[in-house]
Amino acid sequence: MTNIIYSTGRKIIPRRYHRLARKYLRYASLPLYCGRRFTCPICGGHFRKFLPFGVRLRPNAQCPRCDSLERTRLLWLYLRNRTNFFTANLKVLEVAPMESVQRKFKRMKNLDYVSIDLESPVAMLKMDITNLQFPDNYFDCALVYHVLEHVPEDKKAMTEIYRVLKPGGWAILQVPINRQQTLEVPNVTTPEEREKFFGQRDHVRVYGLDYKDRLETAGLKVTVDSYCRQLGDSLIKKYGLMEKENIYFCRKPEVY
Ligand SMILES: [Zn+2]
Repeated sequence: MTNIIYSTGRKIIPRRYHRLARKYLRYASLPLYCGRRFTCPICGGHFRKFLPFGVRLRPNAQCPRCDSLERTRLLWLYLRNRTNFFTANLKVLEVAPMESVQRKFKRMKNLDYVSIDLESPVAMLKMDITNLQFPDNYFDCALVYHVLEHVPEDKKAMTEIYRVLKPGGWAILQVPINRQQTLEVPNVTTPEEREKFFGQRDHVRVYGLDYKDRLETAGLKVTVDSYCRQLGDSLIKKYGLMEKENIYFCRKPEVY
């Protein structure tokens, strides 16, 4: 039923109002989601189900309370359980901030946090990831979550992240990966063509398993962590995660 409401809404509501419409629908329908089957680790809410989300609607994807998606909840769990993000004093850069977690990051006393984006009104500074206005060796941590698939010069962006990280600093550069080899098609520039070739109107490529090599070409040491699968089926279901999503944990070597 929710899928039908969302699909119909998408067709009759202009695209620029989708975000607002989703927000109102979310608040209006909160009582319908009362339950204990799903838990959002970010806002701590318990629900009967999550909302559907995506170009091809995925069931149980979006938290009805804080808007988090599968990937955001995975990032949160990974930061909490596998890194020093919640315990060490860190200078943090987030590119294209996710509203649901940015609110939390800003309140964390151990973080000196800044977010950037070229367009998003949620970001603290307007800045291009391929031309960062920060000195070399400046951040302890960078979060670049589902960004590079939108960036034409992704190698330049990776080099910039490497440059602004301190030696020993770490970053999570996450992208959707759906194939063996990365697909880039020259002269595909219109939203219609991009949707046809890359599955989304604002994606400029589809990454493959060679993504790790691209990151390492920029100088980063990459660990592909199957953290999600390690959580096991029951936690994957409880938190509404995508079990195949690996975390691309990158580190700038101490000596370079
Ligand atoms: Zn939530």
